[in-house]
Amino acid sequence: MSEHHTTVAEVTIDTRHWIGGQRVASTHTFTDTSPIDGATLGEISRGTPREADAAVAAAKAAFPGWAATPRAERARILHAIADAVEKHLEELAIVETMDNGALLRSHRRGVMPRVAHNFRFFADWLLTLEHEDFTTRGHTNHVTWDPAGPCVLITPWNAPLMLATWKVAPALAAGNTVVLKPAEWSPLTASLLADIAAEAGLPAGVLNVVQGYGSEIGDALTSHPDVRRISFTGSVPTARHIAASAAANLTPLSLELGGKSPLLVFADADVDLAVDLAIEQYDNAGQVCLAAARLLVEEAVVEEFTRRFVAKAAQLRQGDPRDEATDIGPNIHPRQVEKIDGFVQRALASGARAVIGGHRGEGQHYAPTLLTDVRQDAEIVQEEVFGPVLTLQTFTTDDEAVRLANDTRFGLAATVATGDLERAGRVSAQLVAGTVWVNCFFVRDLKAPFGGSRHSGVGREGGTWSFDFYCDLKNTVTAAKGWQDHG
Ligand code: NAD
Repeated sequence: MSEHHTTVAEVTIDTRHWIGGQRVASTHTFTDTSPIDGATLGEISRGTPREADAAVAAAKAAFPGWAATPRAERARILHAIADAVEKHLEELAIVETMDNGALLRSHRRGVMPRVAHNFRFFADWLLTLEHEDFTTRGHTNHVTWDPAGPCVLITPWNAPLMLATWKVAPALAAGNTVVLKPAEWSPLTASLLADIAAEAGLPAGVLNVVQGYGSEIGDALTSHPDVRRISFTGSVPTARHIAASAAANLTPLSLELGGKSPLLVFADADVDLAVDLAIEQYDNAGQVCLAAARLLVEEAVVEEFTRRFVAKAAQLRQGDPRDEATDIGPNIHPRQVEKIDGFVQRALASGARAVIGGHRGEGQHYAPTLLTDVRQDAEIVQEEVFGPVLTLQTFTTDDEAVRLANDTRFGLAATVATGDLERAGRVSAQLVAGTVWVNCFFVRDLKAPFGGSRHSGVGREGGTWSFDFYCDLKNTVTAAKGWQDHG
């Protein structure tokens, strides 16, 4: 095995960047470890501004050819990438689990099929993308989605390939070229994606992957004058930094950020359903941007809700994410576990009570935790923990529920559990959130707009909204009988 490869669960992975259809090494590497047991998974090329420049140059050089490729051909290649993802599904699933600790069963059955779907969906949507011509005093308006140019896509570690391809697919479908920078805590599947795209016939330079620490390679990407779009998923502080860096060139940004979403449980709700929805918030060890980490429960049902919640939570199995029986795997990194525990211990020290959990588990696990006796202005209620930690507060009126729900700086999602659809409509209309789920959670159609309000993000992606972001929209106005009517 060469110094530029590693083998993870029998899958060989090239640990270098992928630039202009070639593997490129940096002088230095960083160590990628597994959250399952802390074992080293590989030494990964540690990108510098040099590789960032090279990747943007490759994307710029490949852009005219890809932008001019007919839609049907672009769509065909995206479907071929989806086919290749499906062919390599098992490898992608196990490598992702080794790298980020999320459940193998959900990678196999949910996440990786969804990765393929990301490519298929945007390929198909591209072929339907059309705006009906309309006339203005006899002139025809013709609206087109023109490819914008090289895009920088920066992604987090909590759902690495899923979130990366949710950007890569529409960017490529739109006729743009891409520089993808995955998170340094989960770099491996992005490297496999480069091979998969090449195998599927994507021309060299259309997709480039650079690895490394955001603090070292990020600015060179986000302040680059040849970059036409930046799509970022990650934390608010990084987003602020990227927005400032992009400001030099006024590069348009899409920001998908954190949240502190509420789950509102009304007394008329099906309590079992409400408990199921609440328990689901521990998925991916709580490392889900959309997680409804704040349970807001109507006073009249809080006792019953809590009793059933505790009984259900007691059945959750923490363990090795490769084991089919495991419900909750480890958290991504020792630093993340430290951060989670810091939030919990400060909350407990300031008067919160742990109904369950409130402490670390084995290795990089954190015990599923529910905290009550928390004030609305407490750090634990206001800040994103990004771990298996929920808070429980009560309300007595709809107005109070809405007030508590909206009282953070975030606005990513909200979930409402109620038996009264009229109430659901009334309450949903008042919630500040990019997505509201009523009596359900995590149902996500790529046709729908996705994004956050307030500090949860800027812009929406999904369906035509993705093409609106990744394209330069153009209106061509043609006079019917020559230039005569400009009044
Ligand atoms: P992060 O902001 O630390 O890192 C995200 C990415 O940004 C990584 O690839 C990192 O290397 C890169 N980065 C860091 N500094 C950079 C810089 N100066 N310039 C350019 N890039 C830089 O976030 P994280 O800890 O990886 O992810 C967790 C966060 O992501 C949480 O806040 C979570 O809510 C959010 N998230 C949001 C969504 C959504 O769709 N809204 C989805 C998943 C995760």
